[in-house]
Amino acid sequence: MEVIIHKCPNCSGPLTFEPKDQKFHCPYCLSVFTADEVSAFEEKQKAAQMAAPEESSKEKSEAGNETAAAGEMALYQCPSCGAEIVTDATTAATYCYYCHNPVVLLGRLSGKFLPDKVLPFAIDKKDATARFLKWIRRKKFIPKAFFQKEQIEKLTGVYFPYWVVDADTEGTFQGLGNVLRVWVVGDLEYTETKQYDVLRSGKIHFRQLTKNALSKNIKQKMVARIQPFPLDKTIPFKDQYLSGFQAEKRDIEFEKIDEDVTQELGDYTKEMLHDAAPGYVAIVNQKSTTKIDELKKNYMLLPVWVLTYREKGSDQVYYYAMNGQTGKASGVLPISYPKLFFAAAGIFFGILIFGLLGGYFL
Ligand SMILES: [Zn+2]
Ligand SMILES: [Zn+2]
Repeated sequence: MEVIIHKCPNCSGPLTFEPKDQKFHCPYCLSVFTADEVSAFEEKQKAAQMAAPEESSKEKSEAGNETAAAGEMALYQCPSCGAEIVTDATTAATYCYYCHNPVVLLGRLSGKFLPDKVLPFAIDKKDATARFLKWIRRKKFIPKAFFQKEQIEKLTGVYFPYWVVDADTEGTFQGLGNVLRVWVVGDLEYTETKQYDVLRSGKIHFRQLTKNALSKNIKQKMVARIQPFPLDKTIPFKDQYLSGFQAEKRDIEFEKIDEDVTQELGDYTKEMLHDAAPGYVAIVNQKSTTKIDELKKNYMLLPVWVLTYREKGSDQVYYYAMNGQTGKASGVLPISYPKLFFAAAGIFFGILIFGLLGGYFL
């Protein structure tokens, strides 16, 4: 398996993607490159490498073979310092623990695992940290440990795998629609009920139904809450965008969610056709058909800032997640019981005092 570090065309330092200007920065010579410049350089190096195998723009380590079967942890060799990089079965980009160079595990992003598109981060770590602190200030009863400096350091930018579905569906909806007319003449109220045959049929185009593609992503619910991602900003996949971030490859194949997606699209279709028949008090004897004409699925990597926190002496893990493009945040937060107790005591005292005052005045 190929492990690579995208290297600076100028000094061979490790390039990282910078969300602020959407360019690639070298921390050593401070050069800045566009995606096209990086690609052009690597293409040229690749051509040169064909002639002279030693030259390489992407430092490679073919020796660091995958030592474990798929589905388990695996070891790779860092192309920069030679240390072992331990990864989960789904890790596709990470940092070397020893030399802190950003590495991309190319083998996990090739063949059928080659993503169709990537949505690059737009929010960098500094900005993400500031947003996290602002967000947490509005929350009460949070233990200090959750936003201590060393904890916030762990805020990590992760490209998560998703299936994104575009589909054309068609359907029919029919039933008997009741319309009531009520009027009063003198002392008498008249009610007239008319019943109409209702029939609606149509074709509907759905865009960007977004589904989680990582089974270990227990943050799924929360990650769902930071949607939508601005998918119109996605670009054709280039692995250099992962440089400086973590990335996960999918382990949920589309066949596994196909049935759910079909069901969901069917339900939406039915609902929209039903909504296209307004103005009835009730529609009875409802019947409907739906079918999917065309379904296009795209495998995408989408950007999320994630912070996890494990409470001391407890298995409880808490999460904070933020959309790496829009900044929309969501979290499951720990509660600090001592703080909560004091607040509750304060409320209790407050009520007691008001009660006494009331007593005096009465
Ligand atoms: Zn450089
Ligand atoms: Zn290393």
